[in-house]
Amino acid sequence: MYSLVINSGSSSIKFQIVDPNAGAADAPLVSGLVEQIGEPSGCVTVKHPDGKEVAQKPIPTHKVGLQEAFRILDSKGLGPTQLDITAVGHRVVHGGMVFSEPELIVDEVVEKIRELIPLAPLHNPANIDGIEVARELLPDIPHVAVFDTGFFRHLPPAAAVYAINAEVAGKNQIRRYGFHGTSHEFVSSQVPALLDRDPAHTRQIVLHLGNGASCSAVANGQPIDTSMGLTPLAGLVMGTRCGDIDPGIIFHLTRQGGMSIDEIDNLLNRQSGVKGLSGVNDFRQLRAMIEDENQDAWMAYNVYINQLRRYIGSYMIALGRVDAITFTAGVGENDRFVRRDALDNLEMYGIKISDERNAMPNDGPRIISTDDSAVKVLVVPTNEELAIAQKAAKVAARM
Ligand code: AMP
Repeated sequence: MYSLVINSGSSSIKFQIVDPNAGAADAPLVSGLVEQIGEPSGCVTVKHPDGKEVAQKPIPTHKVGLQEAFRILDSKGLGPTQLDITAVGHRVVHGGMVFSEPELIVDEVVEKIRELIPLAPLHNPANIDGIEVARELLPDIPHVAVFDTGFFRHLPPAAAVYAINAEVAGKNQIRRYGFHGTSHEFVSSQVPALLDRDPAHTRQIVLHLGNGASCSAVANGQPIDTSMGLTPLAGLVMGTRCGDIDPGIIFHLTRQGGMSIDEIDNLLNRQSGVKGLSGVNDFRQLRAMIEDENQDAWMAYNVYINQLRRYIGSYMIALGRVDAITFTAGVGENDRFVRRDALDNLEMYGIKISDERNAMPNDGPRIISTDDSAVKVLVVPTNEELAIAQKAAKVAARM
């Protein structure tokens, strides 16, 4: 039994065929990527148990891309209609105030996701493209939408409401929605068992540090705060996004810098963060530059760590008592320097990392704090595709 997981972007589709009962570290049966949709040259890559297929050809539409991917899979006996696929799980970025739980996709659900486009003008249309094409190509399999915002749908109002004019905020649906919810839920739900604790009495901070980065404070299974906001631009310093900045900077760039809103959008989303300060967004390159005593890389790293510590500190206060701090995603799982520096010198708050445990290679969930650390520090690999596969299979099984 498998789930097909689809993450459809504006010019790409990522997909996996996953056994929902697999372990978090197990490789999917199939993973694939359709790239450069709508551009003169396109590419479909499919990785399967016997190797890898690459087809280079123009991919005018999402439909052509998915058809090409399925054609490759069919030729290997791994097509979605050849395998026992019980659900198709679609990653949908914005569920607004409408969706908290995964939803079986019927026409009204697609319409509601469409109505949320103003909140995610870049993401939801591309997610809908993926849903429509996949439903057309696989009409007999249940399709399920899994929302990136879902886990944070019921944040306490004090954490979700922005202190801007309530009438304007209401009219424009402005509030903190939070993103990476599937990952925060997946990771935070594993922590109690790893610590042999009751989930109903576990207070934790999850640091999802990938190219995008976010953190959350989770009390007894429920998130009480998270760093991303109306959009995924807020919060921590990220690979290319600025994270929290003084909103006055936007007026300044408009009035004094002569920049348009689209230019500022591009600047803050794609040319800022670690890349904006150092020229690179990959932490392996950043580390190599720091070792070469590159001052820009050093500054970028310090700004990144400083912002991370601000959030850790504020979530410790929000939670009152913290049982666990967990690192996940590309940087969090692999970069021991980031983990060390994020929690350095916090012994008086009961946080003590073991250098030896922290230096162990990334191979599954592990505790990296010392035995006498009151707050346990963990690394728990995330697997958003597996989480989506599990949620989709669960919804489909109810039918
Ligand atoms: P993600 O968005 O979770 O896929 O994370 C991608 C990011 O993880 C990359 O841009 C790198 O900055 C970082 N990363 C991946 N592998 C490593 C590694 N071995 N050491 C440090 N950073 C890494």
